[in-house]
Formats: sequence, C-alpha cells, structure tokens
Amino acid sequence: KRSEEAGASGADLHLVGMTKRFGSFTAVDDLTLTVPKGSFFALLGASGCGKTTTLRMIAGLEEPTAGRVLLDDQDVTRLRPYKRPVNTVFQSYALFPHLTIADNVAFGLRRRGVKQYADQVERMLHLVEMDGFGRRKPAQLSGGQQQRVALARALINHPQVLLLDEPLGALDLKLRRQMQVELKRIQTEVGITFVHVTHDQEEAMTMADTVAVMNAGKIEQLGTPVDMYDFPGTAFVANFLGQSNLLAATVTGRSGDDVLVEAYGGRYSVPAARARAADGTVWLGVRPEKLHVGTEVLAGHQGVRGIVTDSSYMGVSTQYLVRAPWGDELTVFVPNSGVAAPLAVASEVTVSWRPEHAFLLSRPANET
Ligand code: ATP
Repeated sequence: KRSEEAGASGADLHLVGMTKRFGSFTAVDDLTLTVPKGSFFALLGASGCGKTTTLRMIAGLEEPTAGRVLLDDQDVTRLRPYKRPVNTVFQSYALFPHLTIADNVAFGLRRRGVKQYADQVERMLHLVEMDGFGRRKPAQLSGGQQQRVALARALINHPQVLLLDEPLGALDLKLRRQMQVELKRIQTEVGITFVHVTHDQEEAMTMADTVAVMNAGKIEQLGTPVDMYDFPGTAFVANFLGQSNLLAATVTGRSGDDVLVEAYGGRYSVPAARARAADGTVWLGVRPEKLHVGTEVLAGHQGVRGIVTDSSYMGVSTQYLVRAPWGDELTVFVPNSGVAAPLAVASEVTVSWRPEHAFLLSRPANET
C-alpha cells in the first residue's frame, strides 16, 4: 500500500566499467556492479576512496571518464541529472530557508507544473513521521527533522533510485541511530532502490541488504553484512568492518577437513570452509567477541597464554588487550553479563577460540 503511495517501485541499477580520472589520478577504477531493484545498498569506505564520485556519476553530476550507468535496461549515462529518475539526499539538507516545510516538500512537483499537490505532501510528511509540521520554516526544526523533510522532498518525485550521501553525518550519535532505523523502515515501505554512501561501518551494516567495501577506487568486497563480518574476504575488509585479530601464519598442511597453520610457534587448525587461502603465508583471523579469556584453554578451543595490559569498560562489554608471548596485543570483548569477575590488568590469562570461529585470509608478501 505504502509503496503505491510513493508511486515508484525502483529499478535495477547497473554500473558497468565506471571509471573516473581527475588528471592522472584514478578516483574510481573500472567499477562494475548491480544493485537489485528495491534493495538497500551501502557503499562503505574511508575518506577519499571514491564513494561520492561514484554517487555523483550515478546522479549525472559528474561525467564518467569511461563506463555506463543503466536503470533496468535503459542507458542513462548521457542523460542530464534532472532527466534521470534519480534523486539525491545530501548530508547538508539544503532545504530552502524561506519556504515552509510543505512548500519545500512540494518543490519538485511545483517545478514540474503539478497544481494539486497538498495530498501528496501530506502523505510524504506522514511517511517520514512529520505530520503537522507543514507550516513551519526549516529553522524551526531540529537537524533530524530537517533530514526527514529532505527525504520527503526527494521521495515525492518518485525516483527509481534514491542516492544518500552521508545523510546522517551531521546528526549526533543517538539521533543517527534512530534515523538508521527510520531510513530502513522508509526504504522497506516505499520499496525503491536506495544507494547509501558512508564511511561508518555500523551505519552500513545496520541498514543495508548489501554492503560494498571500497578501497582506492575499487570494490574490495561485496556481500551481506553478516557474511562480510563473519568471513571477510581480505585483511582490509576484516579491519574495516569491526575489529579483528590477525596473526601472521604459515600453512603447514591438512588434516581431514582442517587446514593446519603455524603462527609464532603455536599450531592451530581452521576448517577448510573458513579458509580463503590454504597454502603459503596467511592471516589467521578471529573477531574479538569470539575469543574466550580465562585461566585455561576451554575444551574444543585452541589458544595462547598472555598478560592483560589494558581493560576498558564500555557498558555492554569490556574490551581487554592481552599481550601474546610474541609481543602483539590481542583484542578481546567480554560481555558484561555479570557472570565473570573483571580481569585485572597485569594478570596472566589464556585467550582461546573455537577453530570454526577463526578464518584464514591470503597474506601477500607486502602485508606483515
Ligand atoms: P569522503 O568520504 O571524504 O567524501 P569519498 O570516498 O567520497 O571521500 P571522493 O569524494 O569520491 O571520495 O573522492 C575520491 C578521490 O578523488 C579523492 O582523492 C579526491 O581528492 C579526488 N577528487 C574528487 N573530486 C575531485 C576533483 N574535482 N578534482 C580532483 N580530484 C578530485
């Protein structure tokens, strides 16, 4: 019902060989990907990796050096921005300060010569939970409220694809979390394709069906948040999506369905299904919350002994740093469930994990 009100059903978005060079610098490097109709897609990466440039090429605000943009099978690469069934919501909401909220939302319709728009404006304000705010001016709204209005103003144009460029970047943490839930709800209700650009991994993971991690103009890995977090494809992704303990290891052989590795004199096994690389030099990875810290290695676990060097209380959990015998520190998250007593700094402990909670990644010679 709601998706009918928004009037759009989205389109498959295809980027084919998208490249953008600024002089000799390649900002976006031969990007090919498909965002399925009606899905919530996040482009995630550090500052300068090419996210915004990619978004601007989809919007038509930046001309690609090479490559094509398709919506379903329509090639829109050469269309002017306003001719594309695409709208963008930016970090700065850029509402017109002298117009009322209702007139801001109606802007796109009025520009197209639509005369009867009051009902549509009301429905859009309802969608973003801003009923009754139509007569106010932007300055009389909070940042989060202005951002909702900016969203309504974009959605009223029935875009097939909505582009969001760090739309929550200006909001404080609590409001950002609320808006993450709101954005996801609105996307589900209107059913159109959302492409969201962010450098915030939590934001990407909480909202998106599919996340693409970008690095130096290329897609490093693309997948569901759960798959990417649980079994990252590269050390870069392991470190970018949450925290990781990566031990420089060398594969020594196989035993049944397990790959055997050696790291700093210790021997460990990892199920072959969790190994992206199974020979030569590898990273042995374990997420901090998968580590168990105690006085002994639990049955079915494997691990190392170490010394607690730091303890940080974080409310839900405590983060410990444990120095391994070879000098590196392992990061361990322990939920503050009240079951175990806190560990004292300088105490000697064992850090252990189940083999199936580890993963192996290839370790190129230039990564140590
Ligand atoms: P941020 O999160 O900081 O916005 P981003 O991933 O969105 O980063 P882009 O804005 O896409 O990054 O920029 C990618 C690279 O291209 C950067 O190194 C940037 O300096 C460069 N760049 C962007 N626009 C131009 C331009 N008009 N001329 C020259 N270089 C540019």
